[in-house]
Amino acid sequence: MTREQSKYTKSADAFAQARKYLPGGVDSPVRAFGRVDMGPVFVAAAKGSKIYDIDGNQYIDYVCSWGPMILGHAHPAVLEAILAAAQKGSSFGAPTLAETELAEKVIAAYDSIEKVRFLSSGTEAVMTAIRLARAYTRKDLIVKMVGCYHGHSDSLLVAAGSGLAETAIASSAGVPDSIAKLTVVLPYNDIEAVKAAFEKHKGNIAAVLIEPVAANMGVIGPADGYLQMLRELCNGRDTLLIFDEVITGFRLAAGGAQELFAINGDLTCLGKIIGGGLPAAAVAGRADIMDMLAPLGPVYQAGTLSGNPIATAAANATLDILTKGDCYEKLESSAATLEAGLADAAKNAGIDVTINRLGSIMSCFFTDKPVRNFTDVQSTDIECFKKFFAAMLNQGIYLAPSAYEAMFVSLAHTPEDIEKTIEAAKNSFARIIG
Ligand SMILES: *Cc1c(COP(=O)(O)O)cnc(C)c1O
Repeated sequence: MTREQSKYTKSADAFAQARKYLPGGVDSPVRAFGRVDMGPVFVAAAKGSKIYDIDGNQYIDYVCSWGPMILGHAHPAVLEAILAAAQKGSSFGAPTLAETELAEKVIAAYDSIEKVRFLSSGTEAVMTAIRLARAYTRKDLIVKMVGCYHGHSDSLLVAAGSGLAETAIASSAGVPDSIAKLTVVLPYNDIEAVKAAFEKHKGNIAAVLIEPVAANMGVIGPADGYLQMLRELCNGRDTLLIFDEVITGFRLAAGGAQELFAINGDLTCLGKIIGGGLPAAAVAGRADIMDMLAPLGPVYQAGTLSGNPIATAAANATLDILTKGDCYEKLESSAATLEAGLADAAKNAGIDVTINRLGSIMSCFFTDKPVRNFTDVQSTDIECFKKFFAAMLNQGIYLAPSAYEAMFVSLAHTPEDIEKTIEAAKNSFARIIG
């Protein structure tokens, strides 16, 4: 199914122009809409739950900048904080009071966090976490799970090797095999695989790195007891457990997935929401590990724009709202209504879907089977998703342009937005059949 082309002529022209000067016309691959076989819509503006494209189309936005915009776009309190900070200067390369204030909020929200280092992207946060883990344990290997995304640093752009618990191979050109070999890639939700890796690479695993709720292969929650068993396997083996909560941090609860599942990581990576829509991220955790960072310790890490005053102001304003009141109850209620509506609509249309949802992140997989790992995701009907995506877009619903991504519900989504989305889904499911 293609889009109603006439609605998107300015975006089509803009994309043609952008492709002359930007590789692929975009600054991050998934934005090119390649996974849904069309060109992207170019965004002109956004406010609350809506985004507006340059052709004048309006959409209810379920991408929310891939997670950060949990309060909705251009939230008045965040905007005010950004403008006030900008007026005092946009970057100093020197410490500010706001960074300590933000660190205190993060530490208050997470049981497992005693110290925080702010940086500019989730990629940097995870890159630094694994450097810290290697320095702390004096070991080299990192375990990661298939389908989890941890940014684009060399060690983590890797795919599973030939056998279970075998070291990885590079999944991007430009990543040397000698670096890929330092990562072991295992299936998500498979505790036996982790045991096998600890056996095979005895004494060499610095850290197990995981999204405690996977949200970069669609949304997949941890199986019962999985995270606890990871915790136990790491304990006593002098291996750190790193929770990449770049999506789930301040999303599933103020204390992220760790609060939800009552479990503590040794290190936590935060990003997306913690920037309040601006570029900011954090690596955080136990003081004895964090204090290995320069200038205190021997692990080097630095950033010209780290703790940037405008980003820090946006973050402080965002966390102030999220850590007070009943935000997470509201998010749960909106998302639960949407989940039930989508499930109903699919059922009535005679289409098999599996909806995985944790709080305000969810995925609607086109399959009649449970989806518990990346292999399950790959067996879903991607062609169906593409048709669904196009039909939703044509009705003013902006979903992530890939079957391997999550839907994000924000506090700005109103009951009317959710209702409209369910109505659009009814039509879209009918069109898939038709
Ligand atoms: C987005 C994401 C990252 C990378 O963050 P960037 O800010 O895009 O570098 C890392 N881990 C997870 C779980 C993410 O979702």
